[in-house]
Amino acid sequence: MDSKLEKVVALAKRRGFIYPGSEIYGGLAGFWDYGPLGVELKNNIKRQWWQKMVYEREDVVGLDAAIIMNPEVWKASGHLEAFTDPLVECKVCHKRFRADHEEVLKAHEKEHKNTSWTQPKTFNLMTEVYLGVTEPKEKAYLRGEITQGVFVNFSNVVDSTRVKIPFGIAQIGKAFRNEITPGNFTYRSREFEQMELEYFIKPDEKESKKTFDYWKEERLKWYVGLGMDKKKLRFREHAADERAHYARFAEDIEYQAPFGWSEFEGIHHRGDWDLGRHKLVYKSDDGEKYTPWVIETSGGVDRAALFFLLDAYHEDEGRLVLKLHPRLAPYKVAVFPLLANKPELVEKAKLVFDKLKLSFHATWDDRGNIGKRYFSQDEIGTPWCITVDFDSLKDNTVTVRDRDTAKQERIDIDKLSSHLQTKLG
Ligand code: ATP
Repeated sequence: MDSKLEKVVALAKRRGFIYPGSEIYGGLAGFWDYGPLGVELKNNIKRQWWQKMVYEREDVVGLDAAIIMNPEVWKASGHLEAFTDPLVECKVCHKRFRADHEEVLKAHEKEHKNTSWTQPKTFNLMTEVYLGVTEPKEKAYLRGEITQGVFVNFSNVVDSTRVKIPFGIAQIGKAFRNEITPGNFTYRSREFEQMELEYFIKPDEKESKKTFDYWKEERLKWYVGLGMDKKKLRFREHAADERAHYARFAEDIEYQAPFGWSEFEGIHHRGDWDLGRHKLVYKSDDGEKYTPWVIETSGGVDRAALFFLLDAYHEDEGRLVLKLHPRLAPYKVAVFPLLANKPELVEKAKLVFDKLKLSFHATWDDRGNIGKRYFSQDEIGTPWCITVDFDSLKDNTVTVRDRDTAKQERIDIDKLSSHLQTKLG
């Protein structure tokens, strides 16, 4: 593993962002648990996504569909047949790999002298589950993508709301894939979360191209707006033989990760594949009936969280700073009494803390000295630290210290909330 990735993995464990799943039983490949800070980071990513994709638009509504659906859904969508990866096996050690991951295969070939590979086999990624109490139990699947829940509810949403084409349905939720080779920390997991928009339009080549380009740019802007380094982002178009079975056209947003350029969001032109397969149509106000086309933006919450963490990780003159965008930071503010053994300082600091915690996710720290407290907050990305000192008792002001510049300013306690709110944007 690259050293930056190793450092982020270690920090994530040490400070409670991400732990290996089922760790006390030796873990389980491809499963991860988010700790007290990780759940905040992930929730903040999802909240920002929902804000942008649903609340700030008049043409998008939300949905939360079930994870397990009637298996007929997956038959119709083509996933039982075509949601596959090519698998090869090393004839020497019988380890299995993705046949399309050439770099990984080359690395493995160096491990044995006489490696050779079996012919590629297609391997279905859907995870099977069994329902009911009577034998034989009913076979079903954990969803391999959250998308189908939107398509099967297309008519429900049209009939129960006032949406008119063009419009979108947004959803965030868990997906499961029986990945052949989980790895690169959370990057390739077997359980992960997706945040997706299905945007329905009239079937029209020009319109679909315009919509596709629009969403591509919107999604890139969203990541950059939340602080991701633009130089580490690029689009990559899928070659025809690489596209998923449903895609007419696809481009990925990739991040320059320590393990190479890596997809973390796909923009897909799904055409009428899904609604067509589910035999669903749209009837416009003037009675025109057609199968809409779909432009999809499909992002991974876990991959986004990982890349936000990698991007934010900085070592500045011996100080480790996680420069997360304040809206993504697990804690927005930390409150300290200058000295923990001076009751008047502690009391005043508690008043500040109790007030701020109603509007911001705030944390309290009175251990050690101020330097150590700053150090501890910097490495988890807390953008502002507030210290109540002896001057605070006289003039009702506190010190607000900025994580990135380490600069401090005095702010009146009564103006703290609005001061922080303005900074948060
Ligand atoms: P890959 O080629 O890396 O397997 P994919 O092209 O199959 O990914 P999509 O089907 O387009 O991925 O899924 C949309 C998004 O869901 C991805 O961009 C990614 O962020 C997320 N995702 C997909 N598979 C995984 C996984 N195994 N672990 C974590 N996130 C994933």
